[in-house]
Amino acid sequence: MSNLRQRFYIENCPVRGEVVHLDEALQTILSQRSYPEAIKILIGEMLSATALLASTLKIKGQISLQIQAKGTLKWAMAECNHLGEVRALADFAEDPRFAEAHDSSTVLSTLEQPVLFINIEPEVGERYQGIVPLDKPTLAQCLMQYYDLSAQIPTHIVLASTKETSGGLLIQLLPRREDEYETIDEDLWPRLIMLTDTLKSEEITSLDPQEILFRLYHEEDVRLPEQESLRFACTCSQKKCVNALIQIGENAVKETLEVQNPIEMNCQFCNARYTFNAEEALSLFGKHLS
Ligand SMILES: [Zn+2]
Repeated sequence: MSNLRQRFYIENCPVRGEVVHLDEALQTILSQRSYPEAIKILIGEMLSATALLASTLKIKGQISLQIQAKGTLKWAMAECNHLGEVRALADFAEDPRFAEAHDSSTVLSTLEQPVLFINIEPEVGERYQGIVPLDKPTLAQCLMQYYDLSAQIPTHIVLASTKETSGGLLIQLLPRREDEYETIDEDLWPRLIMLTDTLKSEEITSLDPQEILFRLYHEEDVRLPEQESLRFACTCSQKKCVNALIQIGENAVKETLEVQNPIEMNCQFCNARYTFNAEEALSLFGKHLS
């Protein structure tokens, strides 16, 4: 088993869902910086959540979850694009409360004035930003509340993470056509939620998505399209660094060169290093060293 996303449908029912499992991709991300236990677990849950949410979009582009707060966790973000590429990063100060955790509630309970943003950035078209209050104990509960209030598609989400693997399940009750109301088993949705909530954190993080679906819904007629793979990848590039230098302007670049030549830009997500010597940096402004 590796980094996977499995979509599922229940035959003749307006229900669809996804199960994700991340291991190597999460380990790669967590190995790039030194995170305390509780933040590793938060990042794991955020990554699984973005991989689940990305699957509900029908666009080319990316979706990110971003927590901003005052307190010892300053921000944390996780991102997934339509190719199944994920990355994540967090910034924090030392806090003894981060030494141990079982789920995202440990970090969420320390946040001051927190906000969770859901950003959807299509390759073409308008960006969307949703704001999710972080006033429930866990990330999954906050996201479900968001769906309740804004999307109005009944959605149930479970998430779990260890410091090495993470996973989650999302199930949605889709709008029905008029003529479907009578033929649908009214107990279906409450039954599915009840079954989904029997899933233990250890099962979410250790079992294959298909095994999870079998355990939960073996009495339903579950259909499984092909699995998709997920992987760690970074979107940083030389070109983005060039744009950033142009953005800060010639004077700021000259000032930077006085203290740092060549200019070094390090990607926090993947530790890639981009360097620009004085000639390269100034040539961006159509100038050369005299
Ligand atoms: Zn990078």
